Amino acid sequence: MSHQHSIRNLLNIKDKNIIFDDENFCSIETIKHVKAKVFHGTLTYQPKACDACGHVFDDQIIKHGFKTTLIKMPSVFGYPTYLKLRKQRYYCKHCHSTFTLQTDIVAKNCCISNHTKVSIALDAKDKISEKDIALKHHVSHATVSRVIDSFYSYYQPNVHYLPKHLCFDEFKSVKSGAGAMSFIFCNAETGEIVDIVEDRRLHVLKEYFLRYSKKARNAVKTIVIDMYSPYISLIHEVFPKAKIIIDKFHILQLFSRALNKTRINVMKRDKKNYNKLKKYWKLLLKDQTKLDYKNYTYHRCFKKLMCEVDILHYIMNLDSELKESYELYQYVRHYIKTKDFEHLKKTLKNKWNSVSSYMRTAIKTINKYINYVENTLKYDYNNGILEGINNKIKVIKRISFGYRCFRHFKTRILITQNLMTM
Ligand SMILES: [Zn+2]
Repeated sequence: MSHQHSIRNLLNIKDKNIIFDDENFCSIETIKHVKAKVFHGTLTYQPKACDACGHVFDDQIIKHGFKTTLIKMPSVFGYPTYLKLRKQRYYCKHCHSTFTLQTDIVAKNCCISNHTKVSIALDAKDKISEKDIALKHHVSHATVSRVIDSFYSYYQPNVHYLPKHLCFDEFKSVKSGAGAMSFIFCNAETGEIVDIVEDRRLHVLKEYFLRYSKKARNAVKTIVIDMYSPYISLIHEVFPKAKIIIDKFHILQLFSRALNKTRINVMKRDKKNYNKLKKYWKLLLKDQTKLDYKNYTYHRCFKKLMCEVDILHYIMNLDSELKESYELYQYVRHYIKTKDFEHLKKTLKNKWNSVSSYMRTAIKTINKYINYVENTLKYDYNNGILEGINNKIKVIKRISFGYRCFRHFKTRILITQNLMTM
């Protein structure tokens, strides 16, 4: 095997017109303050025609020196690797212009090899920040952004089609984001992202959704939302045929948060039981019917053996407001679980005189949306399907130390979700 062949193999170069120097074909040089491996080669072949005027090659097209370029190659053994390529130049006597020979390992007027670009683009699919990709390939951060932009065609959702069942949600956006929150919506059945919108404010979303055809919008049957009232007016206007579903977990969260605040209030008042109220917060949120009443274990706060039911009784007897708030929470929990809308509605309409003010606010809020809560119990769609995606978004944001530009952030999310392909 000639050394020509081995170097071509090592650098993964197919172009046989590149000939490596016989001696000194590889040297160690300092490039951009870093020690790098530099291979030396020459590109030469007889062109078919003049690059400028297109005249077929003849004796009027003559060799005219070399142009040397430094091409960034994929790293070899962890070293930044370059190819110092002397490209043959020609002079055309027909049109009096010069041109340089081209090779398929690098694009014209570019100094980063195509292989390097492909590996950068592939890395964008993994949980690795752009900065780390740049370090790994020994290129600048700007190059990484540019390569990602050029490899992935810009994502354009199909405006003539929308899934029948949708989930609306939002996430904390980037610093430059027009709104503090960005909007994401997905197919409620598959969890696939349909699109991401920078700003979740009503006028922006309305304008966005009106780009979809009327037929596509009318085909939407249900939409899961959290209790954010602009979504409701948006849906009435833009999706006239869709039923609104309030997300199940958001309803539960509304009440569990109110219960937690109630407990903390009691905690502040009752210094003697502070530790107990603090330690057993989870028991209050647990499904009442699943509390353990058999297994006695030693609890240091009580200095005796107790089971979960005992502890709960103790805590409930501390404060009547907490007790009634707890009961309300358990009712809501139970009726959501058993999908019993009539009882839930009745329960919420009851006079709850001694619940905490937090609970009263929760009741008021939920009663505002009560017509949509009926759909929550009727349909099985919820935003749980988006949770995985939202976690991924958080990871992407963390590894990149916060994207400044929303477009890059969105691109990266869509790439990791395989919605943007090379
Ligand atoms: Zn010419």
